Formats: sequence, C-alpha cells, structure tokens
Amino acid sequence: MHTLRQQFLQHVGQTSPSPMMVEVARAEGVFFYTPEGKRYYDLIAGVTVNNIGHANPAVIEAVQRQVADYMHVMVYGEMIERPQVEYAMKITSLLPEGLDSVYFLNSGSEAVEGALKLAKRYTGRTELISMQNTYHGSTHGSLSVMGSEEYKTAFRPLLPDTRTIRFNNFDDLSLITSRTAAVITEPVQSEAGVRIPLPGYLEALRARCSEVGALLIFDEIQTGLGRTGALFAMQKYGVTPDIVTLAKAFGGGMPLGGFIASKEMMDSLTCNPVLGHITTFGGHPVCCAAGLAALNYMLEHHLSERAEPLGALYETLLRDHPAVREIRRAGLLIAVDLENSERMFAAMRGFVENGILSDWFLFCDTAFRISPPLTITEDQVEESAAMIRQVLDTL
Ligand code: PLP
Repeated sequence: MHTLRQQFLQHVGQTSPSPMMVEVARAEGVFFYTPEGKRYYDLIAGVTVNNIGHANPAVIEAVQRQVADYMHVMVYGEMIERPQVEYAMKITSLLPEGLDSVYFLNSGSEAVEGALKLAKRYTGRTELISMQNTYHGSTHGSLSVMGSEEYKTAFRPLLPDTRTIRFNNFDDLSLITSRTAAVITEPVQSEAGVRIPLPGYLEALRARCSEVGALLIFDEIQTGLGRTGALFAMQKYGVTPDIVTLAKAFGGGMPLGGFIASKEMMDSLTCNPVLGHITTFGGHPVCCAAGLAALNYMLEHHLSERAEPLGALYETLLRDHPAVREIRRAGLLIAVDLENSERMFAAMRGFVENGILSDWFLFCDTAFRISPPLTITEDQVEESAAMIRQVLDTL
C-alpha cells in the first residue's frame, strides 16, 4: 500500500527536485493545517493569491451561488454573463481612465500572452522588451520575455525579436525604440527579490515608451490588489501603463487572469483576423464571481491600507536580527535577505519544521519571502515574526 506521499511523488508531475511535502487538510485565514492538526502560518498566501485570507466566507458564498446558477456555457466573449460584466465594470472603475476593457483568461501566463499579442497587433511592431531577472509566466510567449537566460535556453527557439534591459537603469531606456511594440515590467520586481523602482525610473520608462510609440505593459500579477499598499502598484508610483495584466489574487483563490487596456486598443483583436484571441474557460463565471466578492471584501475592509503598516511592523521586528542583511519591501511584499543562499535554505527547512510557510525568490535565493494574507492581524505579525527569529537564531 503506497502512502499519499509516495503517490504524490509518483503520479503528480513535479518540477522541483525537493518539494515541501506538507499535506494540506484545510486552510482558514492566515493558517493552514495538516491532517495531523499541525498549524502553519501561511506567510506567502499561495504566492500572493489569498490576499483576503483562506476560506473567506464572502468568496465561499459567491462561489456556491454561482455554481448553483450556471458554470460554463459557451466559449468566452459570446454570451452575456453577469459575473464577468460586473467584475469588469468594478475593476475598471478602480483603474486610471483608459484602462477600461478587460479580457478575462485563466492564469497569469495567459494574461501576459494576451497582452503581448495585443501590443503586437495594435502597434504593428514585433520587438518585445522585458527586464532582467523578471518572471512573467511559463508558456512559450511569457517565457520569451522572462529575464533569465538560464530558464530559457532549454526551450529555444522561443519568440524572436525579444530583448532584456536592466530594471532601474536609466541608460538602458535608449534601447527602447520606434521598433519596439511593448515594454513589459512589474512596477516592483517581485521574483528578483523585491526590487523597488528608483525615484523617477517608472516615469522615465513611461516617457520613453510614449516618445517612441511603444506600449507600456505593467504586470501587476503579484503587485496588484492591495499587496504593495495601494490597490494597484501603478497608483502607488503614479505611473499609468497602456496595458495591465492581473491574475493570482484577481480570482479570490480561483484561477482567473486578465489583461486590461483601452476599449479602442482591445477592439483590434476583433478584426484582421477576427477572433484574434480565444479562450474556452477564460473568465469562468464562478471565478469572476469569486474575484468580485474578494475585491468587494478588500474594499469594504480597506485591506490595501493595512499592507504598509503591517509590512513596516515585520521590518521593525526582524531587521535587527544578526542573520538579516537587508529587508526590501513594498507594503506586505517583503524580501528578508540573509546574504547567503545556504543560510537561506537552512532557514527554509527550519520554517517548515516550525510551522511557517515561506519561500525564496526565483532570482534571489539569498532571501525569503513574507507576503501573507492582508487580513493578518498585528498579533499574528508579532507571533510569526517571533517564530521566524527563533529559526534564525539556530542558523
Ligand atoms: N507574472 C508574474 C509577475 C508572476 O509572479 C507570475 C507567477 O508567479 C506570472 C506572471 C504567471 O502567472 P501564472 O502562474 O498564473 O501563470
């Protein structure tokens, strides 16, 4: 008789050589529990998905209601489905003017794919520029704009006419030219280990794109929906892109992605060719109902306003520990840098043993991540920070 652990390793496809192997029985608020009843602090929120906490009653109720009404009916964009329309209306009412049409998909990678296609179609150009040390997804198109050769080489050929520039490097902006269809970047680089834009950088990037007629795409898949202390990081930094991609917290725990642009730009996908982008399940009514309920909950409880003070509290509670070299953060998107990857991996093992779920960053394995649900309380920040310090003491 094989155990569930063995069956997991044998039959569930994996790409990590050392999975965490913690079995989940249930999750609630900022915690999840194993079948044996061991409690874990979820300090990554499914990688910035569960911004309103696990098992939030508002989402459960919305999902149950929509499942009972109808689920999938017809491929996306043909029928009028109230959850899609209401969610599109709500999210665009909270974005700057000009970002008023949503194309719903199933994931972040798909949102990025759609945004890149839209930029090529709308500008008639082919060059796509992205930033070094950035992750935008794992499908061929989104992988093509990944800012790391290491992850791309084995999968070439990828999209032609892509190049990377250095985030926060003002000189590299001159590489954006009248050949460029779009530049895609996160306003804060998440997987680089939380890299904050230098003062004036996003403004200069915006100005350069406008000057040469390139579109600016902000990937707010991690930074969006309250994580950095504003509903969208673009608002925190005061720079508006031409296209924004959303996913992760966008579905309130259900799989949902989307790219948002002006109606005029979006309409370019309806001709030459017609059906310029198609999806069967994108914008699934249950996922849209869940996402809208989560967004309404976030607004009613002012969750984005909690991110900055609670992030600052973590910083205060951790920064004087001798193992901590640096803390970089935007709201509750936090990288605690231990300077050394062996120490970071030792900390990670200690966290799992001691009831803390954290993670490192794709392009920064010297730092661990703190990005809990935005519903976390001050007491919970204090308790989890004390647990982190205990593990750091053993390094
Ligand atoms: N963009 C960013 C910034 C991400 O962090 C991710 C996923 O981690 C993606 C895109 C891809 O999203 P998904 O995993 O839903 O395809």
